[in-house]
Amino acid sequence: MINTESALKDYFGYESFRQGQKEIIEQVLEGKDSLGILPTGAGKSICYQLPAQLLPGLTLVISPLISLMKDQVDSLGQAGIPATFLNSSLDEEETRSRMSLVRRGELKLLFVAPERFQSGYFFDFLSSLPIDLVAVDEAHCISQWGHDFRPSYMDFAPLIKQLPSQPTLLALTATATPQVESDIRQLLDIRLENTVKTGFLRENLRFEVKKNVDKRAFVKSYLKEHQGDAGIIYASTRKEVDELTSYLDKSGFSVAAYHAGLSEARRRDNQEAFLFDDVQIIVATNAFGMGINKSNVRFVIHYNSPGTIENYYQEAGRAGRDGLDSDAILLFSLNDMRLRHFFIEQSESDEGHKAHDYKMLQQMQAYANTETCLQRYILRYFGDEGEDCGKCSNCTDERVATDITVEAQKVLSCVIRMGERFGKTAVSQVLTGSKNKKLESWHFEELSTFGLMKGQKQKAVSELIDFLTSEGYLNISSGQFPVLSVSINGKKVLKGEQEIYRRELIAQAPAKTTTASE
Ligand code: ADP
Repeated sequence: MINTESALKDYFGYESFRQGQKEIIEQVLEGKDSLGILPTGAGKSICYQLPAQLLPGLTLVISPLISLMKDQVDSLGQAGIPATFLNSSLDEEETRSRMSLVRRGELKLLFVAPERFQSGYFFDFLSSLPIDLVAVDEAHCISQWGHDFRPSYMDFAPLIKQLPSQPTLLALTATATPQVESDIRQLLDIRLENTVKTGFLRENLRFEVKKNVDKRAFVKSYLKEHQGDAGIIYASTRKEVDELTSYLDKSGFSVAAYHAGLSEARRRDNQEAFLFDDVQIIVATNAFGMGINKSNVRFVIHYNSPGTIENYYQEAGRAGRDGLDSDAILLFSLNDMRLRHFFIEQSESDEGHKAHDYKMLQQMQAYANTETCLQRYILRYFGDEGEDCGKCSNCTDERVATDITVEAQKVLSCVIRMGERFGKTAVSQVLTGSKNKKLESWHFEELSTFGLMKGQKQKAVSELIDFLTSEGYLNISSGQFPVLSVSINGKKVLKGEQEIYRRELIAQAPAKTTTASE
């Protein structure tokens, strides 16, 4: 067997493999179809780039990220590895000349977008080539249960198996829940024992959730305390990015913006300024970051909540790639959730997908509401178990936990008495004995739980419902109008078999409105 360590050093100059790489590479060289699940920044590219050098024929890389192909090909070129890409950005002549380079066997790697496979002509071209390895990047796109399903991924899967050169297949992804993982294996026909998974734990990240704070004031004071550190601030719309950038700029911080509405030149300049430390902070939409490899990012702040835990973890994971302590902070507000609902409603997906997107969003919301360790919550989401991290904002929360079992029982029994057919607003209205006209037609005032929590604010009850949902005592259906039901654990609480503790609420200062003078 080839000495892969010395090959790594010869071709890429690295001293040793990172976790998972060696195993994947050796499996691939033995011709085993494999799946590699490694977190962002772990070094997935080497897993096909090194075999590409060692195998006699061609390595085909299927990637949805057209914008990154050129960068990858350029950096391979700099390392002396001949590679090219074919995608819709090239004219016919250029495509033809690249295809003939490939045919002449002058290249080791060919990058293509999955849509290429729709052309029979392209498939014939591939069939004529000595392809040894097909690497499927962002392999989670093949699963309907992933956060980024792409139908074109379904199309090429069976075609790869038909290639006469019978290449080995390597699927790679950074994000896969257990369901997505098994989907990838099934659809690409990869055996369980050929899955290499390194775990999602990022020990050097400190997670923090801030709810209902004055976001601008928070960011400003955070940046003051972290002068000189490089960081990314993600916001969900271009408008929000522009406004925050100009606010921070006026406040004297070294900041640049990045979003798809800026010209390509401007985006490139801003990105480079950030990469080379000429600018300390980049404020960006999620268009920023794919393939960005800056190791000394000390913090990632989400000014708005992403729509899924996958996206959140991938973006937050851009902090601390050098292994040094770094912060991942989510500024959570219900307004962001409304915006996310709007995004889902406006999307062109069918009802099934929308329901799925709502479910992912609920899990994101539950992350913001949980009182358990944040790192552990994320690991569990991806099917990993772990210890409490001891440093996230929940682990270090010193508020005393009080027994709220009785309060919880009131909520749970009200949900049951209302037939498990209503959402959070209706349940909290019934519990607080609201005289809402809409409710009257249902005659809820006849329920024994009507007004059981009279005297409490509806908002407080509604937050208690959020808490019970994120801790798994209540289930919530997906859809635009989510309906609450009591889970198995919730039933245990109702029967008095389980107690619930919640951290004492601290009186929260009302969010300040930002003034121009700030
Ligand atoms: P991913 O695709 O998993 O997010 P990349 O393949 O882009 O990660 O790799 C991230 C960075 O780590 C790149 O700069 C890459 O050159 C570097 N890298 C990969 N493997 C090693 C290694 N064994 N030793 C040192 N650096 C590595």
